[in-house]
Amino acid sequence: MMETVWDLVVVGAGPGGYVAAIRAAQLGLKTAVVERRPPGELGGTCLNEGCIPSKALLESSWRYAQASSGAHAAHGIGVGDVTLDLAALMGRKADVVAGLSKGIAGLFKKYKVTAIQGEARLAGEGRVLVGESEFQAKCILLCPGSRPVELPGLPFDGERVISSAEALALTKIPKRLVVVGGGVIGLEMGSIWSRLGAEVTVVEALPEILPGIDVSVVRQAKRLFRKQGLTFLVGSKVTGVMGDAVSVTDAKGKKHALTADKVLVAVGRRPNAEGWGAETDENGFITVDDDYQTSLPGVFAVGDVIPGPMLAHKAMKEGVACVERMAGLETTVDYGRIPGVVYTHPEIAVVGRSEAGAKKRGIEVTVGQFPFLANGRARAGGEADGVVRVVAEKESGQMIGVHMLGPHVSELVAAAETAIGHGLTAAAFAEGIFPHPSLSEALEEAALAATGHTIHL
Ligand code: NAD
Repeated sequence: MMETVWDLVVVGAGPGGYVAAIRAAQLGLKTAVVERRPPGELGGTCLNEGCIPSKALLESSWRYAQASSGAHAAHGIGVGDVTLDLAALMGRKADVVAGLSKGIAGLFKKYKVTAIQGEARLAGEGRVLVGESEFQAKCILLCPGSRPVELPGLPFDGERVISSAEALALTKIPKRLVVVGGGVIGLEMGSIWSRLGAEVTVVEALPEILPGIDVSVVRQAKRLFRKQGLTFLVGSKVTGVMGDAVSVTDAKGKKHALTADKVLVAVGRRPNAEGWGAETDENGFITVDDDYQTSLPGVFAVGDVIPGPMLAHKAMKEGVACVERMAGLETTVDYGRIPGVVYTHPEIAVVGRSEAGAKKRGIEVTVGQFPFLANGRARAGGEADGVVRVVAEKESGQMIGVHMLGPHVSELVAAAETAIGHGLTAAAFAEGIFPHPSLSEALEEAALAATGHTIHL
């Protein structure tokens, strides 16, 4: 029997890998995906222990917090005894994940992508080993993703010191949770467990949480998160954990101890770049050229394992670009317009430069801002905290950044991304007709503000 020669073997069925595989198959490439997780767990970290389960828990925990804090009373709604069944809440999360993973399996079937379960290794040019089986491939695409960074002195033990994966699957609500790292994971996981009743302290090494996001947005967000019950220790480092005592050194070098039954370490992720034999940069990422080709002939890489923000949507776009380029198209990814979202309440969403970031690069800017307090839809919904800030180049008026805090801004950022990606001026963007009443009017008004006036302020 003739051995199959695959046009493409993809390693890893996360957002980079599964999307690349689907697109490759659509383009006529005979495609297989090797994934080490069990067959029911296609979707990688994002689907199994990242983006999706965290959103399910954020939703459930928010509903619980709203019901139990009496937030419905303003609507004239009385709520009786509010109870929480953590197992049921986690069960719903598991169902969401399983359903979406099944969806990927269905897409593989539809587009004729073959899934192979096992740990892949490269075995020389055009050859992939999975256990004892060897697969021949014209092209190999590495999408092995990343793993949580471990801190010296605080190794993960899965019990006391945990990563985000375990924090998404706790079977008991911790009494006190210390979160090391005031980044995206720290805030999302901190919010979930604080809403469910844990006392949460976020310890951030830098002088401010969420580095890179507009400082006025971050400060306003932090005030709201504090009101929700989170405690922040900035400029501080966790140096060790002994039993339930967590040693912290503050900005002035003073040492003190916190008590915690769980310590979540969320200080970033490391690329799974080792063992492939491909060249890496000084930060440990696999280096690629414009075609996403690594230093190894016929071996490509996308997603968390190559430089750039570790975001599912970045990996997906790279996966598509990589295989479309294999098929002779000239697809590129515009790295200046990758949105970032923190799914707290309210949400934070950014795309392009912050005011400070632009100034640091010597770009003269005007900034238009508009508070949700002056937005009818936000007021009607009872969620009027937050602000939209539009950063435009002073001379041209071109929009180069939008940083927002507010209700559902994860949805608004798509419009901002389109405006920035297409080089629209703030004036041209504000010429658009925005539905009234809608949250999008805050974006319209912030763009107007960047041109010098607003209507509703
Ligand atoms: P992050 O880079 O977002 O934040 C890490 C934080 O930890 C930073 O603020 C950093 O200053 C701080 N830090 C580093 N070392 C520290 C130390 N020793 N003590 C205290 N603080 C320290 O990383 P993350 O939150 O771990 O997330 C990992 C990756 O996953 C990120 O690339 C993130 O974008 C991605 N992610 C994205 C989303 C989303 O898009 N909503 C959600 C979760 C994770």
